[in-house]
Amino acid sequence: MTDTMRAYRMIHWQEPPVLDEVKVPEPGPGQVRIKVAGNGLCQSDLHMPHIPAAMEELMGWKMPFTLGHEVGGWVDRWGPGVTGLVEGQAVAIVSTRSCGACLECDAGADNACDSNHVGRGYGMDGGIADYLLLENDRPIIPLAGLDPKLAGPFTDAGTTSYHGVTRVKERLGRGRTALVIGAGGLGGFAIQYLKILTRARIIAVEIDAKKRERALDLGADVCLDGAMEDLAGEIRKLTEGRGADAVLDFVGNDATIATSIAALAKLGGYILIGAGEGRLDMPLMSALASKSAWVTSFIGGTISDTREVLALADQGMLRNDVEFFGIEEAPKAMEALEAGRLVGRAVIVP
Ligand SMILES: [Zn+2]
Ligand SMILES: [Zn+2]
Repeated sequence: MTDTMRAYRMIHWQEPPVLDEVKVPEPGPGQVRIKVAGNGLCQSDLHMPHIPAAMEELMGWKMPFTLGHEVGGWVDRWGPGVTGLVEGQAVAIVSTRSCGACLECDAGADNACDSNHVGRGYGMDGGIADYLLLENDRPIIPLAGLDPKLAGPFTDAGTTSYHGVTRVKERLGRGRTALVIGAGGLGGFAIQYLKILTRARIIAVEIDAKKRERALDLGADVCLDGAMEDLAGEIRKLTEGRGADAVLDFVGNDATIATSIAALAKLGGYILIGAGEGRLDMPLMSALASKSAWVTSFIGGTISDTREVLALADQGMLRNDVEFFGIEEAPKAMEALEAGRLVGRAVIVP
């Protein structure tokens, strides 16, 4: 083995990432090295060149760093003090970093741990490289049958989406309706989880015709064009005037927020997941109180969510559309993602 490896890295603030040659990391005490099989690209990777240098002071990000926070691979080597690992074991790496010792982690809400301000692929080295160094074995989840090349997207896109569905699944018994806004990567997973975990009718909303078709394939009962006029009215019509008992908004712009609130059924729940930075331009009291509705939001999912998702994937119960790119094609993959040319997830294979 040579002592250098390829890595797709942020070198300077406000500049695009570059393919670089760096030293293969050597695991120290407590650390584990993973040989990367594949790393899924995420919309958030596109924002990296636009992130202000203030992140260093605000969040503790350290430049330079390797991109990539959706990693599948194999256990390669570990430092003193690590026990119980098997060399060559196929694994997925939990995307959200957490400490395991704070009140949130204790409560199983590790996605809300303050350690997630810095993570693998954002502020420290991530998985678009030949190898990834872990600070400890906490994020390692062994795979039972799933190809680790395919595992990455389940750890972030798949996990975040799963967390959203777990927050509303109790309200989605027979006769209820779930509304999924945005049927891309995360929304596509949500449709599958809703199908597996609930008995609700699933209405999806999507502006892209190809993704609308895919949403129906994945199990949506109806998929409406997001560009249609009076979307909320159409949803009411489809639900005999009731509206949606749960709305998962994977877009989060002004229009989808307004539609979601207007389409909520009595006692309905709205979850804002998409980072569209939208605003609600109406008094909250009149928007929500008459329906006794609730609104919530979160970032990422928990370790337990990732375990559940990987268990479903290991059993072959989830469809995960991916397009593979070599590491030297990482810039091309980013371009395709930015241009909206991908139907599934781009996975960078070193
Ligand atoms: Zn992400
Ligand atoms: Zn914690």
